[in-house]
Amino acid sequence: MTATILDGLALARQVRAQCRPRVEALTASGFRPGLAVILMGDVAASAVYVRNKIRACEDVGIESRVVRLPATTSEDDLVSRIDALNADSGIHGILVQLPLPSHIGIRRVLEAIAVEKDVDGFHLYNVGGLVMGSTVFPPCTPYGVQLLLDSQGIDVEGKNVVIIGASNIVGKPMALLLMQRDATVTVCHAKTRDLAQYTILADILIVAAGRPGLVVAPMVKHGAVVIDVGINRLADGRIAGDVDFDAVKEKASFITPVPGGVGPMTVTMLLVNTIRSAEIALQKANGSSESPPVSVMMPYWQPSVVDAPTTE
Ligand code: NAP
Repeated sequence: MTATILDGLALARQVRAQCRPRVEALTASGFRPGLAVILMGDVAASAVYVRNKIRACEDVGIESRVVRLPATTSEDDLVSRIDALNADSGIHGILVQLPLPSHIGIRRVLEAIAVEKDVDGFHLYNVGGLVMGSTVFPPCTPYGVQLLLDSQGIDVEGKNVVIIGASNIVGKPMALLLMQRDATVTVCHAKTRDLAQYTILADILIVAAGRPGLVVAPMVKHGAVVIDVGINRLADGRIAGDVDFDAVKEKASFITPVPGGVGPMTVTMLLVNTIRSAEIALQKANGSSESPPVSVMMPYWQPSVVDAPTTE
């Protein structure tokens, strides 16, 4: 068996095509979506991620603003900058690029972002919504993975899903999203003993550990769906995921490449969340009652109106 490639670039293009008319309609109503990205310090990888987000905004017509702060900025100053963006009616989404310097308390910073502008979905309120089964802003990487699965009609109900990685931004919210869809979810982490005894049972294996080559073919069940979230820069400069792609694709039914799999979807879901935030702001300005949260059982993005991505 050779796996079908889950082409995140192609799907991201299709979702962005759906974004443009929504941005145009909002702009015509005086609510052009605006995203502010706070970039603190000079971590090279963070600068690349921020540049990609700004380009993606330009691609669909979202206004973007980068707030660059020196690594020595105090936590109080950073929170003041967030407060100013919270009060700025032209900004509908605020994102603090992680990681932050060690003197910054990440929880305080993420809680400072207004709930209605928390397009990364990291505020405790939005995390709580995810736990309870509905949220306005699903975190972008798990949201993108969910769409990749939906785009191929991969039903997770009753499936054994194994997630490697238990971080707050990928592994845990991914588990919550899929539990809402009645998957049986196992979350593994660095202290999990004998990882392979779990992975071999997975109908769907999602790998987000940041360890190149962690998942090799003998760990994967024949016909499994394999989603590689990892992004690792190898010594020779190449980018690789956490999965031995060449060998595992001969066993899996579907597999994401790295690059070109989950990464483009993460950025695209940030756009979707920002547009949704602007749409809610417009509804409120028009006096309509508060928009209900997006049920994660019924994603805002409708796979039925988008053709399945091609791998060509
Ligand atoms: P993280 O915060 O470092 O978390 C990594 C998780 O993997 C932790 O739960 C850790 O376990 C676990 N882990 C590490 N080594 C392991 C091993 N040998 N066996 C089993 N579990 C192991 O990283 P993250 O932010 O979640 O990101 C994970 C990877 O995804 C990174 O490569 C990152 O660059 C990538 N990423 C990609 C996207 C995208 O859009 N494609 C988005 C976000 C992140 P402990 O909890 O026990 O330490």
